[in-house]
Parts: sequence; C-alpha cells; structure tokens
Amino acid sequence: MTIEEAYNQLQDRFLSFENGEDWKQFLAFSARFRQYSLCNTVLIYQQRPTGFKLTSVFDLSQTEGEEVPIPVSIKGLEDREGADLLREKMLAAVRKEVPVSYTTLPLGFHGFYDIKTRSISLSNGDSALQNVKTLFHELAHHLHETTFPGDETTDQKEFIAESAAFIACSALGIDSSEYSIPYIKSWLDDFAAFSKMRAKIEKISSKLLSLTEEIAIAS
Ligand SMILES: [Zn+2]
Repeated sequence: MTIEEAYNQLQDRFLSFENGEDWKQFLAFSARFRQYSLCNTVLIYQQRPTGFKLTSVFDLSQTEGEEVPIPVSIKGLEDREGADLLREKMLAAVRKEVPVSYTTLPLGFHGFYDIKTRSISLSNGDSALQNVKTLFHELAHHLHETTFPGDETTDQKEFIAESAAFIACSALGIDSSEYSIPYIKSWLDDFAAFSKMRAKIEKISSKLLSLTEEIAIAS
C-alpha cells in the first residue's frame, strides 16, 4: 500500500465514521465523563508532564445507572495473533532511534513522548497491538520534533501523529480506525481543515514506513 492509498483510506474512515458504532460509543462515554473527555486527559497530562502523579482520569465507580461501554480509544486495541512478535520487532527497531520504556498509566493513557529527555513511555497495561500503535504515534511525535519541526499547535501535532500512526498500521495490515478516528476527531472534527498538514503527515509516515520495511526484512 502506498502512502497515498493509506492516506485516502484514513480520509474515507474519517468521513464514514460518523455513523459507526464506535463513534457513538465514544460520544456516549464522553457525555458520561464530560469533564474527562479524551482531549482533557491529554491536557491534564500536558499540564503535569513530570512526576506522573496522575489520578485515574476515568473513575468508573462514579457512574450511576446503566453501564457505559468503554470505547476502544480509551481501553485500547484488542490483541490479535502475532502482535507479541510484532511488538518485539518494533521495539528493537524503534530503540535504535529513541529509548522506550514501559510504565504504569491510568486508564485512557497509552503512552507519551517526553520532549525533554527525547524518550518514549508505553503503558504496561495495554495489549501488544495497542503498544505497537502507540509506538508509531510516539515515534511520529519524536520525528516531528527532531526531524520536521514546525509551528503546529498541540491539536495539530496530535492529529499529525495519529494520522501517521494510522497510515503505518495500515501498511502492516492493521486497521486502527476504531482507536485512531475518535482520537483524531476529538482533537478537531474537521478533516478538510487538516489537508494543509497532509505534506507533513506524509513525510512522517514515510519515515515510519521505512521502519515497517525494516521489520518485514528482518522477519
Ligand atoms: Zn500524542
């Protein structure tokens, strides 16, 4: 799959997601935990980038009445066969570029890129497949900051990183839309507004794709 094809797939998924079950689930969840929307969780983290004294952002015990299903974008992608091996290969390849460690994170957090130490942390509570997706996302942040810096806002940076991660996953035959599309839409629900960032998304994606090729050769 070329980057262009993957980008078009992202655009299709984005536009058709509106009517999908996952997006409805995500909206229902966000409505229940209004003060803890996905955007807020990231902002909470950004306001406290050190120390990692995070309280659980989604305290499920505070819900009353019927249970709200936890959306994939909060609980993470489910595992599938071969994901463990893929994660090991990815870790080996990514660690040539940037240090990666595991850490315990509250529900809804899957990892982060520390801009000061230039290192990646992954949630030790996630599936191997989710770790792979997160690795692409955080590596995209790393590449953005170190190789393709610009004056993008936080929203735009998140949009770019997750779009690039989606494209890299597509290249490996992984459809991460259940996770990626709500995440992207939670930052800005307007795909057209981001078309001007397409060039940067594609630059970063192409770096991520060279990594996936390396993994494919090594296997
Ligand atoms: Zn991010």
